[in-house]
Amino acid sequence: MQSQAIKFASARANLFQESVIREMSRLAAQHKAVNLAQGLPDFPCPPELKEAVTRATLDNVNQYAITWGDKFLRQAIAEKAARFNGIKADPETDITVCCGATEAMVATMMALVDPQEEVIVFEPFYENYGPDAILSGAVPRYVRMNPPDWSFDEQELARAFNDKTRAIIINTPHNPTGKVFSREELNVIAGLCQKWGVLALTDEIYEHILYDGREHISIASLPGMEDLSVTINSLSKTYSVTGWRVGWAIARPELTLPIRKVHDFLTVGAPAPLQRAGVTAVNMPQSYYDELKREYEERRRYMLETLEQIGIEYYMPQGAYYAFCDISKFGHKNDLAFTKYLVKDIGVAVVPGGSFFGADNPLKHKYVRFCFSRQDETLKAARARLQDLKPL
Ligand code: PLP
Repeated sequence: MQSQAIKFASARANLFQESVIREMSRLAAQHKAVNLAQGLPDFPCPPELKEAVTRATLDNVNQYAITWGDKFLRQAIAEKAARFNGIKADPETDITVCCGATEAMVATMMALVDPQEEVIVFEPFYENYGPDAILSGAVPRYVRMNPPDWSFDEQELARAFNDKTRAIIINTPHNPTGKVFSREELNVIAGLCQKWGVLALTDEIYEHILYDGREHISIASLPGMEDLSVTINSLSKTYSVTGWRVGWAIARPELTLPIRKVHDFLTVGAPAPLQRAGVTAVNMPQSYYDELKREYEERRRYMLETLEQIGIEYYMPQGAYYAFCDISKFGHKNDLAFTKYLVKDIGVAVVPGGSFFGADNPLKHKYVRFCFSRQDETLKAARARLQDLKPL
Protein backbone atom coordinates (compact mmCIF):
# COMPACT_ATOMS: atom_id res chain seq x y z
CA MET A 1 0.00 0.00 0.00
CA GLN A 2 1.25 3.48 -0.84
CA SER A 3 2.11 5.69 2.15
CA GLN A 4 -0.21 8.65 2.71
CA ALA A 5 2.92 10.83 2.50
CA ILE A 6 2.46 10.73 -1.30
CA LYS A 7 -0.23 13.43 -1.20
CA PHE A 8 2.26 16.03 0.04
CA ALA A 9 4.30 16.32 -3.17
CA SER A 10 3.53 19.82 -4.46
CA ALA A 11 1.78 20.32 -7.78
CA ARG A 12 4.96 22.12 -8.88
CA ALA A 13 7.23 19.19 -8.04
CA ASN A 14 4.81 16.82 -9.76
CA LEU A 15 5.26 18.73 -13.01
CA PHE A 16 8.71 17.27 -13.66
CA GLN A 17 10.44 13.92 -13.41
CA GLU A 18 13.56 12.89 -11.59
CA SER A 19 16.68 13.37 -13.72
CA VAL A 20 17.08 10.53 -16.22
CA ILE A 21 20.83 11.07 -16.23
CA ARG A 22 21.26 10.30 -12.55
CA GLU A 23 18.92 7.33 -12.96
CA MET A 24 21.27 5.97 -15.66
CA SER A 25 24.23 6.32 -13.31
CA ARG A 26 22.33 4.27 -10.71
CA LEU A 27 21.61 1.55 -13.29
CA ALA A 28 25.26 1.61 -14.32
CA ALA A 29 26.33 0.89 -10.72
CA GLN A 30 23.70 -1.86 -10.36
CA HIS A 31 24.84 -3.65 -13.54
CA LYS A 32 28.54 -2.88 -13.09
CA ALA A 33 28.44 -1.16 -16.45
CA VAL A 34 31.04 1.24 -17.83
CA ASN A 35 29.41 4.60 -17.15
CA LEU A 36 29.36 6.93 -20.16
CA ALA A 37 26.14 8.55 -18.91
CA GLN A 38 26.64 11.43 -16.49
CA GLY A 39 28.63 14.46 -17.66
CA LEU A 40 31.50 14.36 -15.22
CA PRO A 41 35.19 13.53 -15.59
CA ASP A 42 36.33 10.26 -13.96
CA PHE A 43 39.92 11.55 -13.81
CA PRO A 44 41.39 13.73 -11.03
CA CYS A 45 41.32 17.51 -11.07
CA PRO A 46 44.67 19.37 -11.38
CA PRO A 47 46.82 18.79 -8.25
CA GLU A 48 47.24 22.53 -7.63
CA LEU A 49 43.48 22.76 -7.08
CA LYS A 50 43.57 20.06 -4.41
CA GLU A 51 46.35 22.00 -2.68
CA ALA A 52 44.38 25.24 -2.99
CA VAL A 53 41.37 23.74 -1.17
CA THR A 54 43.56 22.45 1.64
CA ARG A 55 45.28 25.81 1.91
CA ALA A 56 41.95 27.64 2.05
CA THR A 57 40.64 25.55 4.94
CA LEU A 58 43.99 25.82 6.81
CA ASP A 59 43.84 29.60 6.28
CA ASN A 60 40.46 29.53 8.08
CA VAL A 61 38.31 30.27 5.07
CA ASN A 62 35.60 28.11 6.60
CA GLN A 63 32.74 30.50 7.39
CA TYR A 64 30.10 31.99 5.11
CA ALA A 65 31.59 33.94 2.24
CA ILE A 66 29.92 37.22 1.29
CA THR A 67 26.62 35.99 -0.10
CA TRP A 68 27.32 37.06 -3.69
CA GLY A 69 30.78 35.54 -3.64
CA ASP A 70 34.34 35.60 -2.32
CA LYS A 71 35.92 38.94 -3.23
CA PHE A 72 39.09 37.35 -4.67
CA LEU A 73 37.08 34.93 -6.78
CA ARG A 74 34.87 37.69 -8.19
CA GLN A 75 38.01 39.65 -9.06
CA ALA A 76 39.52 36.63 -10.84
CA ILE A 77 36.24 35.94 -12.70
CA ALA A 78 36.08 39.56 -13.90
CA GLU A 79 39.63 39.34 -15.25
CA LYS A 80 38.93 36.01 -16.97
CA ALA A 81 35.68 37.32 -18.52
CA ALA A 82 37.60 40.29 -19.96
CA ARG A 83 40.38 38.06 -21.28
CA PHE A 84 38.35 35.22 -22.81
CA ASN A 85 34.86 36.57 -23.39
CA GLY A 86 35.22 40.26 -24.20
CA ILE A 87 32.93 41.01 -21.26
CA LYS A 88 33.59 43.98 -18.98
CA ALA A 89 32.31 43.09 -15.50
CA ASP A 90 32.69 45.02 -12.26
CA PRO A 91 33.33 42.40 -9.56
CA GLU A 92 31.53 44.57 -7.00
CA THR A 93 28.26 44.93 -8.90
CA ASP A 94 28.08 42.52 -11.85
CA ILE A 95 28.98 39.04 -10.55
CA THR A 96 27.07 36.57 -8.38
CA VAL A 97 28.84 33.38 -7.34
CA CYS A 98 26.36 30.51 -6.95
CA CYS A 99 26.29 26.77 -6.22
CA GLY A 100 27.24 25.80 -9.76
CA ALA A 101 25.81 26.94 -13.07
CA THR A 102 22.75 24.97 -11.97
CA GLU A 103 21.87 27.39 -9.21
CA ALA A 104 22.99 30.37 -11.28
CA MET A 105 20.44 29.50 -14.00
CA VAL A 106 17.51 28.77 -11.70
CA ALA A 107 18.23 31.83 -9.51
CA THR A 108 18.45 33.97 -12.66
CA MET A 109 15.12 32.71 -13.94
CA MET A 110 13.40 33.14 -10.58
CA ALA A 111 14.84 36.65 -10.33
CA LEU A 112 14.13 37.90 -13.84
CA VAL A 113 11.15 35.99 -15.23
CA ASP A 114 7.56 36.31 -14.04
CA PRO A 115 5.03 33.48 -13.99
CA GLN A 116 3.32 32.99 -17.38
CA GLU A 117 6.07 34.79 -19.26
CA GLU A 118 7.66 32.78 -22.04
CA VAL A 119 11.25 31.57 -22.19
CA ILE A 120 12.55 30.34 -25.55
CA VAL A 121 14.55 27.13 -25.31
CA PHE A 122 16.42 25.56 -28.24
CA GLU A 123 15.55 21.90 -28.55
CA PRO A 124 17.27 19.52 -27.84
CA PHE A 125 18.32 21.11 -24.55
CA TYR A 126 20.20 20.36 -21.33
CA GLU A 127 17.51 18.73 -19.23
CA ASN A 128 17.59 21.21 -16.31
CA TYR A 129 16.10 24.07 -18.32
CA GLY A 130 12.64 22.45 -18.31
CA PRO A 131 12.39 22.23 -14.48
CA ASP A 132 14.09 25.66 -14.21
CA ALA A 133 11.22 27.13 -16.23
CA ILE A 134 8.61 25.30 -14.13
CA LEU A 135 10.21 26.41 -10.85
CA SER A 136 10.13 30.03 -11.95
CA GLY A 137 6.57 29.70 -13.32
CA ALA A 138 7.72 30.48 -16.86
CA VAL A 139 6.31 28.81 -19.96
CA PRO A 140 9.04 27.18 -22.07
CA ARG A 141 8.65 27.71 -25.80
CA TYR A 142 10.77 25.32 -27.83
CA VAL A 143 12.53 26.16 -31.07
CA ARG A 144 13.94 23.15 -32.88
CA MET A 145 17.53 22.75 -33.93
CA ASN A 146 17.75 20.38 -36.85
CA PRO A 147 20.22 17.59 -37.64
CA PRO A 148 22.76 17.08 -39.06
CA ASP A 149 24.30 20.44 -38.05
CA TRP A 150 21.70 21.35 -35.40
CA SER A 151 21.05 24.70 -37.03
CA PHE A 152 17.81 26.54 -36.35
CA ASP A 153 15.36 28.04 -38.81
CA GLU A 154 15.58 31.83 -38.52
CA GLN A 155 11.93 32.28 -39.44
CA GLU A 156 10.82 29.78 -36.82
CA LEU A 157 12.95 31.54 -34.20
CA ALA A 158 11.55 34.94 -35.20
CA ARG A 159 7.99 33.56 -34.88
CA ALA A 160 8.71 32.34 -31.34
CA PHE A 161 9.33 35.91 -30.09
CA ASN A 162 6.22 37.76 -28.93
CA ASP A 163 5.01 40.23 -26.29
CA LYS A 164 5.13 37.56 -23.60
CA THR A 165 8.74 36.53 -24.29
CA ARG A 166 11.03 37.43 -21.42
CA ALA A 167 14.18 35.45 -22.16
CA ILE A 168 15.94 33.01 -24.46
CA ILE A 169 18.29 30.34 -23.15
CA ILE A 170 21.43 29.71 -25.18
CA ASN A 171 23.89 26.95 -24.40
CA THR A 172 27.12 27.06 -26.34
CA PRO A 173 29.05 24.77 -26.68
CA HIS A 174 25.89 22.69 -26.50
CA ASN A 175 24.93 19.71 -24.44
CA PRO A 176 23.94 17.17 -25.87
CA THR A 177 24.74 17.86 -29.56
CA GLY A 178 28.21 19.43 -29.28
CA LYS A 179 27.07 22.34 -31.46
CA VAL A 180 29.02 25.60 -31.12
CA PHE A 181 26.85 28.60 -32.05
CA SER A 182 28.46 30.68 -34.80
CA ARG A 183 28.82 34.45 -34.75
CA GLU A 184 26.17 34.70 -37.48
CA GLU A 185 23.69 32.67 -35.44
CA LEU A 186 24.37 34.69 -32.31
CA ASN A 187 23.91 37.91 -34.30
CA VAL A 188 20.47 36.71 -35.42
CA ILE A 189 19.52 35.92 -31.81
CA ALA A 190 20.96 39.22 -30.57
CA GLY A 191 18.96 41.14 -33.19
CA LEU A 192 15.72 39.49 -32.04
CA CYS A 193 16.54 40.07 -28.36
CA GLN A 194 17.05 43.78 -29.07
CA LYS A 195 13.95 44.06 -31.25
CA TRP A 196 11.72 42.51 -28.57
CA GLY A 197 13.58 43.61 -25.41
CA VAL A 198 14.31 40.01 -24.42
CA LEU A 199 17.09 38.71 -22.16
CA ALA A 200 19.71 36.21 -23.36
CA LEU A 201 20.53 33.74 -20.58
CA THR A 202 23.63 31.93 -21.74
CA ASP A 203 25.12 28.78 -20.31
CA GLU A 204 28.76 28.70 -21.41
CA ILE A 205 30.19 26.05 -19.13
CA TYR A 206 31.90 24.15 -21.98
CA GLU A 207 33.55 27.30 -23.37
CA HIS A 208 37.08 25.84 -23.20
CA ILE A 209 36.22 22.43 -24.64
CA LEU A 210 36.31 23.18 -28.36
CA TYR A 211 37.47 21.17 -31.37
CA ASP A 212 38.99 21.83 -34.78
CA GLY A 213 40.01 25.40 -33.91
CA ARG A 214 36.44 26.57 -33.20
CA GLU A 215 35.90 29.89 -31.48
CA HIS A 216 33.65 30.42 -28.47
CA ILE A 217 31.62 33.63 -28.59
CA SER A 218 29.73 35.10 -25.66
CA ILE A 219 26.54 36.80 -26.83
CA ALA A 220 27.13 39.44 -24.12
CA SER A 221 30.13 40.68 -26.14
CA LEU A 222 28.02 41.49 -29.22
CA PRO A 223 27.04 45.13 -29.75
CA GLY A 224 23.93 46.14 -27.79
CA MET A 225 23.82 42.94 -25.71
CA GLU A 226 25.59 44.15 -22.52
CA ASP A 227 22.30 45.19 -20.91
CA LEU A 228 20.37 42.14 -22.10
CA SER A 229 22.68 39.23 -21.22
CA VAL A 230 23.24 37.04 -18.22
CA THR A 231 26.40 35.00 -18.80
CA ILE A 232 26.51 31.81 -16.75
CA ASN A 233 29.61 29.75 -16.18
CA SER A 234 31.16 27.41 -13.65
CA LEU A 235 34.32 25.72 -12.44
CA SER A 236 32.76 22.28 -13.00
CA LYS A 237 33.81 21.34 -16.52
CA THR A 238 36.79 23.60 -17.27
CA TYR A 239 38.68 22.51 -14.16
CA SER A 240 37.21 19.00 -13.71
CA VAL A 241 35.65 19.78 -10.32
CA THR A 242 31.92 19.11 -10.79
CA GLY A 243 31.59 18.30 -7.07
CA TRP A 244 32.82 21.69 -5.88
CA ARG A 245 29.54 23.37 -6.80
CA VAL A 246 30.94 26.76 -7.72
CA GLY A 247 29.47 28.70 -10.64
CA TRP A 248 28.51 32.28 -11.42
CA ALA A 249 26.29 34.69 -13.29
CA ILE A 250 27.61 37.90 -14.88
CA ALA A 251 25.14 40.67 -15.66
CA ARG A 252 24.54 44.41 -15.39
CA PRO A 253 23.96 45.65 -11.79
CA GLU A 254 20.21 46.09 -12.44
CA LEU A 255 19.97 42.39 -13.35
CA THR A 256 22.51 41.26 -10.76
CA LEU A 257 20.68 42.84 -7.83
CA PRO A 258 17.56 40.64 -8.11
CA ILE A 259 19.72 37.59 -8.91
CA ARG A 260 21.73 38.20 -5.73
CA LYS A 261 18.54 38.50 -3.67
CA VAL A 262 17.15 35.19 -4.90
CA HIS A 263 20.54 33.52 -4.55
CA ASP A 264 20.92 34.73 -0.96
CA PHE A 265 17.63 33.19 0.14
CA LEU A 266 18.10 29.98 -1.86
CA THR A 267 21.58 29.01 -0.68
CA VAL A 268 23.31 31.94 1.10
CA GLY A 269 26.43 31.06 -0.79
CA ALA A 270 28.63 28.47 -2.43
CA PRO A 271 31.15 26.66 -0.14
CA ALA A 272 33.66 29.28 1.03
CA PRO A 273 36.93 27.26 0.86
CA LEU A 274 36.03 26.02 -2.61
CA GLN A 275 35.33 29.56 -3.77
CA ARG A 276 38.76 30.66 -2.50
CA ALA A 277 40.40 27.65 -4.17
CA GLY A 278 38.51 28.67 -7.30
CA VAL A 279 40.82 31.68 -7.57
CA THR A 280 43.70 29.31 -8.37
CA ALA A 281 41.49 27.57 -10.96
CA VAL A 282 40.29 30.72 -12.71
CA ASN A 283 43.85 32.11 -12.79
CA MET A 284 45.30 29.03 -14.55
CA PRO A 285 47.83 29.95 -17.27
CA GLN A 286 47.03 29.70 -20.98
CA SER A 287 49.00 26.44 -21.18
CA TYR A 288 46.33 24.81 -18.95
CA TYR A 289 43.53 25.62 -21.42
CA ASP A 290 45.67 24.51 -24.40
CA GLU A 291 46.37 21.17 -22.74
CA LEU A 292 42.70 20.70 -21.76
CA LYS A 293 41.72 21.17 -25.40
CA ARG A 294 44.41 18.81 -26.63
CA GLU A 295 43.37 16.07 -24.18
CA TYR A 296 39.71 16.40 -25.14
CA GLU A 297 40.60 16.28 -28.86
CA GLU A 298 42.24 12.92 -28.16
CA ARG A 299 39.25 11.62 -26.12
CA ARG A 300 36.88 12.69 -28.88
CA ARG A 301 39.03 10.97 -31.53
CA TYR A 302 39.01 7.70 -29.58
CA MET A 303 35.27 7.83 -28.82
CA LEU A 304 34.33 8.56 -32.43
CA GLU A 305 36.61 5.75 -33.65
CA THR A 306 34.77 3.37 -31.30
CA LEU A 307 31.40 4.51 -32.63
CA GLU A 308 32.61 4.03 -36.21
CA GLN A 309 33.85 0.50 -35.44
CA ILE A 310 30.42 -0.56 -34.21
CA GLY A 311 28.50 1.40 -36.82
CA ILE A 312 26.70 3.95 -34.64
CA GLU A 313 25.91 7.17 -36.50
CA TYR A 314 27.08 10.24 -34.63
CA TYR A 315 26.96 14.01 -35.15
CA MET A 316 30.44 15.48 -35.13
CA PRO A 317 30.81 17.34 -31.81
CA GLN A 318 32.27 20.84 -32.31
CA GLY A 319 32.59 21.39 -28.56
CA ALA A 320 31.65 19.97 -25.11
CA TYR A 321 32.31 16.29 -24.34
CA TYR A 322 29.39 14.32 -25.72
CA ALA A 323 28.67 12.33 -28.86
CA PHE A 324 24.97 12.52 -29.77
CA CYS A 325 24.06 9.47 -31.82
CA ASP A 326 21.19 8.23 -33.98
CA ILE A 327 20.36 4.67 -32.92
CA SER A 328 17.30 4.09 -35.10
CA LYS A 329 18.98 1.42 -37.23
CA PHE A 330 19.58 -0.86 -34.21
CA GLY A 331 15.93 -1.90 -34.23
CA HIS A 332 14.94 -1.13 -30.62
CA LYS A 333 11.50 0.27 -29.82
CA ASN A 334 12.94 3.60 -28.67
CA ASP A 335 15.88 5.30 -26.97
CA LEU A 336 14.93 3.98 -23.53
CA ALA A 337 14.73 0.37 -24.72
CA PHE A 338 18.14 0.78 -26.39
CA THR A 339 19.81 2.28 -23.30
CA LYS A 340 18.33 -0.39 -21.00
CA TYR A 341 19.61 -3.12 -23.34
CA LEU A 342 23.00 -1.41 -23.51
CA VAL A 343 23.40 -1.13 -19.75
CA LYS A 344 22.14 -4.65 -18.91
CA ASP A 345 23.34 -6.80 -21.83
CA ILE A 346 26.38 -4.92 -23.16
CA GLY A 347 27.50 -3.28 -19.92
CA VAL A 348 27.72 0.36 -21.04
CA ALA A 349 25.54 3.16 -19.65
CA VAL A 350 24.54 6.12 -21.84
CA VAL A 351 21.70 8.64 -21.66
CA PRO A 352 18.47 8.20 -23.66
CA GLY A 353 18.08 11.18 -25.98
CA GLY A 354 14.41 11.71 -25.07
CA SER A 355 15.48 13.51 -21.89
CA PHE A 356 16.78 16.39 -24.04
CA PHE A 357 13.47 17.08 -25.82
CA GLY A 358 10.08 18.52 -24.94
CA ALA A 359 7.01 16.28 -25.03
CA ASP A 360 6.04 16.33 -28.69
CA ASN A 361 9.13 16.39 -30.86
CA PRO A 362 8.91 13.49 -33.36
CA LEU A 363 12.70 13.05 -33.19
CA LYS A 364 12.56 12.52 -29.43
CA HIS A 365 13.24 8.78 -29.30
CA LYS A 366 15.92 8.38 -32.01
CA TYR A 367 19.00 9.37 -30.07
CA VAL A 368 21.34 8.53 -27.21
CA ARG A 369 24.22 10.51 -25.71
CA PHE A 370 27.68 9.09 -25.05
CA CYS A 371 29.84 11.09 -22.63
CA PHE A 372 33.59 10.87 -23.25
CA SER A 373 35.05 12.90 -20.36
CA ARG A 374 36.72 9.72 -19.21
CA GLN A 375 40.22 8.40 -18.64
CA ASP A 376 41.77 6.15 -21.30
CA GLU A 377 41.04 2.91 -19.42
CA THR A 378 37.33 3.72 -19.17
CA LEU A 379 37.07 4.55 -22.86
CA LYS A 380 39.01 1.36 -23.71
CA ALA A 381 36.74 -0.77 -21.50
CA ALA A 382 33.67 0.77 -23.17
CA ARG A 383 35.13 0.01 -26.62
CA ALA A 384 35.77 -3.63 -25.71
CA ARG A 385 32.20 -4.13 -24.47
CA LEU A 386 30.58 -2.27 -27.34
CA GLN A 387 32.06 -4.76 -29.86
CA ASP A 388 29.16 -7.09 -28.90
CA LEU A 389 26.53 -4.56 -29.97
CA LYS A 390 24.63 -5.67 -33.07
CA PRO A 391 21.31 -4.54 -34.60
CA LEU A 392 18.39 -6.67 -33.31
N1 PLP B 1 24.86 23.39 -17.86
C1 PLP B 1 25.10 22.41 -18.75
C2 PLP B 1 24.87 22.67 -20.20
C3 PLP B 1 25.56 21.16 -18.30
O1 PLP B 1 25.81 20.20 -19.19
C4 PLP B 1 25.77 20.95 -16.92
C5 PLP B 1 26.24 19.64 -16.40
O2 PLP B 1 26.27 18.66 -17.07
C6 PLP B 1 25.50 22.00 -16.03
C7 PLP B 1 25.05 23.21 -16.55
C8 PLP B 1 25.72 21.87 -14.56
O3 PLP B 1 26.72 22.76 -14.18
P1 PLP B 1 27.20 22.94 -12.67
O4 PLP B 1 27.96 21.71 -12.29
O5 PLP B 1 28.08 24.13 -12.70
O6 PLP B 1 25.99 23.14 -11.84
